[in-house]
Amino acid sequence: MSPTASFIAGNWKMNGLSVDLDQARAVAAGLGGTAARVAICPPATLVERMSRALAGTPVQIGGQDCDARASGAFTGDVAAEMLADAGAALVILGHSERRAGHDETDAVVAEKVRAALRAGLEPIVCVGETLDQRKAGQALAVVTGQVRGSLPAELAGKAFSVAYEPVWAIGTGLTPTTPEIEEVHRAVRDALVAAFGPAGAGVPILYGGSVKPSNAAEILHADQVGGALVGGASLKAEDFLAIIRAA
Ligand code: PEP
Repeated sequence: MSPTASFIAGNWKMNGLSVDLDQARAVAAGLGGTAARVAICPPATLVERMSRALAGTPVQIGGQDCDARASGAFTGDVAAEMLADAGAALVILGHSERRAGHDETDAVVAEKVRAALRAGLEPIVCVGETLDQRKAGQALAVVTGQVRGSLPAELAGKAFSVAYEPVWAIGTGLTPTTPEIEEVHRAVRDALVAAFGPAGAGVPILYGGSVKPSNAAEILHADQVGGALVGGASLKAEDFLAIIRAA
């Protein structure tokens, strides 16, 4: 079984205007007695307002990326310190949409993880194989290689999560079978224990990729699945709450 209570994090991606803060408020209001840990990662423009809107609730706020540098002449970039200053407690790093669309290598992701730690943010580090890599039988090697390359030694003793997000499952409605998810999560667990010793056994490994109310319970109760990183289904409070309640 998973080593910790479920951690359900919503990734709003490049979605969300002021009016959508009502969805975040509805999530906080609807949590009831759930034991799950819950976070929402809105676009950077909403981090401060969502932090204020949800102050005093159990919902944590996260960024979706950060620059590795603390400040300077880097037009358009957002530092980890800025996210923390705006109220974020977490940051998603190494999402496949960043790795593929912004040429982020494992080394770049690792630098961003160091920046998150410097700013006091808890990283959620994403890994995952493409469909071609899976078809070629490379899923485990790719994912464990990303774990080794993206998680710097400085994470020892720090709180962080890994999100296994098969690239081909993100936003497609496709999901791996439960045995396929468990196979990868066990490999990630082994890689975490190899890198961080016994503490690696307690690191939450989230699954991400087309999680929705109808498949959440099965995925969230699979071996070594410590929660979910939810994209599209986190945008509507009703759907996100249904996933949280399935944990
Ligand atoms: C994501 O982008 O992290 C994600 C899991 O997206 P979706 O749930 O929409 O597949």
